[in-house]
Amino acid sequence: MKLYVEDTNVHYRVRQSWLNDFMLCPERSRLAITLPQWRSGSDATAIGTGIHAAIEWAMTYHEDIPDVDLEELKDVATKHVLDELEKPIKLTKISDDEEVMMASVDAMIEGWHRDIAPMVEWGGHSEYQFEIDTGLVSANNVPILLTGTMDYISPSGEIWDWKTSTRTYTPADKQARAIQPTFYCYAAEKLGLSNGTMSFFYGVMIRKPQIKTQIVEIVRDQAHYDWMLRQLESATRMATTMGIDHSWPMNDQGHLCSSTWCDYWSICKGASLP
Ligand code: SF4
Repeated sequence: MKLYVEDTNVHYRVRQSWLNDFMLCPERSRLAITLPQWRSGSDATAIGTGIHAAIEWAMTYHEDIPDVDLEELKDVATKHVLDELEKPIKLTKISDDEEVMMASVDAMIEGWHRDIAPMVEWGGHSEYQFEIDTGLVSANNVPILLTGTMDYISPSGEIWDWKTSTRTYTPADKQARAIQPTFYCYAAEKLGLSNGTMSFFYGVMIRKPQIKTQIVEIVRDQAHYDWMLRQLESATRMATTMGIDHSWPMNDQGHLCSSTWCDYWSICKGASLP
């Protein structure tokens, strides 16, 4: 969440990742506003970025999956992953064995090419950027806009998000709680790209040297949008009334409150209970 002042136009812009952070731990979302530079990424995000770049290349310059040469696609992914790994990022145990890491990149790309891409309706938009007005205003009367980038939206309005993960997803859990599908389906609806119920698909590639993939369909409708707007309204009200100079509630009750999963661990819980 960020306050933007552009000429006479003043508004908040919220990304789904910020709202997601807020729901996991409000303090983490406050620190994301005050210390965005601490989010420099890791080898896991470098791999994800490289895979995304290769898929975008495939879907932008080819009409359908049979036109995409697998070896060429692997080369594009490898180049982008290696470029990303050159940046100043946090290295985790993933980087301990470079051979296994790069074999995982190949396996994920091959899995996308074999299992996921044929299930996608081609001819849409990769890296589709959007900005929409929710009609909500914050406690200080500033309009709240939603912004983001969909990995892919098909001509008929199906949204896809490419995920690299160590384990498969639990579909029921994502259907019940995931914010990203609600956020993106709501945006697509507001943009006139659908009407009524919308589908969002996770195209999951497991980060292992053996090919393993998963497609998870999430369905969203007006009831989900209304719930997300209630969450958004409460989050922005808290942000504007409490300000960002002092700590917000610190939720340390899940495994995501850890040095591995929270970039702010060293100045938050890790500083008190290392
Ligand atoms: S260390 Fe835990 S409590 Fe602190 S910001 Fe991160 S997730 Fe929240």
